[in-house]
Amino acid sequence: MKLTAIRTLTEFTCRICGEAIKFDPADSQTFMTKTEHEDFFGMKLMTFRVSHDVENERHTNSVVVDHMGLFRGHRDAFSEPLDKIDPSIDRIYWVLHEDTPAIESTSNIKLAILINRTERWVVDVVCPKSVNASEIATLALDRVEEAWRVYNTIPQPMETRIADMGLHVWTSDSRVLCVSFRNGSLVKAVDALAPHIISETEDSIIPRRRMLKLIFQILEKNPDLTPSMLSRIMNEDMLHTTFHTPFEDRIPSIVERTATRHPIAEDILGPLLRGYITLIEVLEGKAASSYKEVFELVDFINRRKILG
Ligand SMILES: [Zn+2]
Repeated sequence: MKLTAIRTLTEFTCRICGEAIKFDPADSQTFMTKTEHEDFFGMKLMTFRVSHDVENERHTNSVVVDHMGLFRGHRDAFSEPLDKIDPSIDRIYWVLHEDTPAIESTSNIKLAILINRTERWVVDVVCPKSVNASEIATLALDRVEEAWRVYNTIPQPMETRIADMGLHVWTSDSRVLCVSFRNGSLVKAVDALAPHIISETEDSIIPRRRMLKLIFQILEKNPDLTPSMLSRIMNEDMLHTTFHTPFEDRIPSIVERTATRHPIAEDILGPLLRGYITLIEVLEGKAASSYKEVFELVDFINRRKILG
């Protein structure tokens, strides 16, 4: 007898408009991209980018799905206009939608925005409500274009001024990172990470505002964030996954055993394995300063195949 796999559609809710979206993980016509990941906490996970059109907008969601085709979490979502934007209109930069607001400001940073010249988006990472991110993007790009005419190579960072704000600006071919510092304490840290944030290969299409926000939150507490850790935070889709461990009754002993090697497990592993919280929520919470311990714990679990 030949067994035929039963195909199930994966279902999730569009994070921008709330519409129920279905796609078939086995049919590449129903999604834009698919990325497979290494085993994570005993699960085989994939990320799919799926889009749908609503009136004159395209909504793109990146979702993490397990080997059964079950939706496990949203990585990110953004909307973009379907019509090519007329360069003559004022509002030429689209502020990317995300369902969490930008950070209003931090102790050391007044403003941090990432702009893409070719895709014409702007991601407001740290941005007070009183500031118009789209206007800042337009003006910052004027400064960058001016510098291109003046210099053979633009200083990195280039220091400039918009309204009453002093800005540090880092540029690549298509991306521009603008940061306004309140003081000098994070200039070096941001300078070390900026080339990675504006790098095209790091994250080619979708700017991940939530992850960028997390990075700026971590920097406030721990300025020695390394580029490799930045890359992990930006790119590990598994951070967004909700777990449902099949062996619920084993959780207390797993937590206890793991905590002898990694004390942080005591606080976070139980809720994680029960699906009450995701790793990104752990990092956004009070564990932001202990992100290294969190990743060490994750690596330990994966290496030992504790949940395999
Ligand atoms: Zn939608």
